[in-house]
Amino acid sequence: MAECLFCKIAAKEIPARIVHEDADVVAFEDLNPQAPTHVLVVPRKHLATLNDLGPQDEAIVGRLFRTGAKIAHDRGLAGPGWRAVMNCNRGAGQTVFHIHLHVLGGRTFAWPPG
Ligand code: 5GP
Ligand code: ZN
Repeated sequence: MAECLFCKIAAKEIPARIVHEDADVVAFEDLNPQAPTHVLVVPRKHLATLNDLGPQDEAIVGRLFRTGAKIAHDRGLAGPGWRAVMNCNRGAGQTVFHIHLHVLGGRTFAWPPG
């Protein structure tokens, strides 16, 4: 999608600190990290919100989470624990309307979330 920030990062039209990329997903460091590890994993396919997922998108959602788990593992977070977050729409805190998995780790997290 032409005017989408994360489509542009995935296409390398806007710079980001990319930590993983393949045919389906791109992962990069969050610009405003909320934890020592704060990586965003996005599909190359533009999907505005989780509400837009169709049956054809089940595999890509799996790829987001498996990529997040690999990044967490590679950073030594699998044992201590890490948090996966996907915000859907403004009331939940979504500000960029291209779905993304937040991979957060390196500190302890409170529950329930704010
Ligand atoms: P949301 O609030 O939509 O769940 O998450 C959007 C995330 O994107 C935020 O954590 C924010 O810091 C991050 N972000 C916003 N703009 C940019 C950018 O230009 N580059 C990077 N790397 N992260 C961004
Ligand atoms: Zn997009």
